[in-house]
Amino acid sequence: MNNQFDDNDYWKGVILYGLNQATYKIALGKSLIELTSLNKEVIDWSELSKSFFDNYIDRFKNEHLPQQSNSSRITRVEKIYLQYKTGTLDYNKAVELIGLEAFGDVIPRFQTIGTDKTIIGEKFYHFDFGNKLYIHDSLFKIVETDKLNLLSEIDARWSLLEGAFKINQGDWTLSNDIREMYITSGYDRKPLSNNIPFLKGYQGNVCFYCSEHIDDSDIHVDHVLPRQVVRHDEIWNLVLSHSLCNLHKDDFLVGKHYLEKLILRNENIMGSNHPWKKKISETLGATKNERLNTTLKHYDDVKVVLNNRYWENSPSYNRETDPFYKRLITVINNR
Ligand SMILES: [Zn+2]
Repeated sequence: MNNQFDDNDYWKGVILYGLNQATYKIALGKSLIELTSLNKEVIDWSELSKSFFDNYIDRFKNEHLPQQSNSSRITRVEKIYLQYKTGTLDYNKAVELIGLEAFGDVIPRFQTIGTDKTIIGEKFYHFDFGNKLYIHDSLFKIVETDKLNLLSEIDARWSLLEGAFKINQGDWTLSNDIREMYITSGYDRKPLSNNIPFLKGYQGNVCFYCSEHIDDSDIHVDHVLPRQVVRHDEIWNLVLSHSLCNLHKDDFLVGKHYLEKLILRNENIMGSNHPWKKKISETLGATKNERLNTTLKHYDDVKVVLNNRYWENSPSYNRETDPFYKRLITVINNR
């Protein structure tokens, strides 16, 4: 039955059909065609990474459209690209990261039609991950006879996917501008566990999200506004939670009641003489009103980026019975 298809059909099967969650396969296909047409049998990982990254840079020259279907995330390649574009990463380092981080799924899975890997096996290439990729004759043949067609099919498929992804993404352009802004001002993850004692002082041993007791062994420092967007570890955005609650919340936007809770927590810190007071005042503002506005601005930014994907936690959550508020009132009253 397989005999009725030729190599060109199989290639199209890979590129044109199937459900793509992201554009990786398309970009890799393009690199494979370009590198094959240079008549090289063995491709260095760095060369492949460079070609793959260049394809995205070229793609984003006119417009950076979403490259995957989940509206709350961007692909690893886009993160690297945005860091490169905003000057956080230089080109060579960006290419190196592509080779390390972007190929884990796409290179092993490229030669799959639907979900079936057995149909084409290693028809077009095999690889030694992180090192080299070896082009096979079938790919040389189709590139030799049909290169221009293959490239134009790839571009068409790429546009089609971007168009489909954009439909779910709200204001993509604005959200991308906001991401860039946070990348420019952001920094690499710091260890957070040293904040636990301080945060406990304002929160007690209860989870910020579900208000149940947390054992020390399960305590997790969580970014209320997801770190993948804000890219900082400022204390005003950190709370303690169960690791499971943290996992459920994932990179979603918290409902506004949690933001209100966070604002109150921060005002509570501002009412104390802790050294963090200065830090919060520097990052959010010197007056209560400034801090409120800065926090709301961040919340609105993140809302755009995450396209209103909320996490409200359990519908049974009740502010009235949340011990956090009792504690807060006690602290305020004792001041
Ligand atoms: Zn919890």
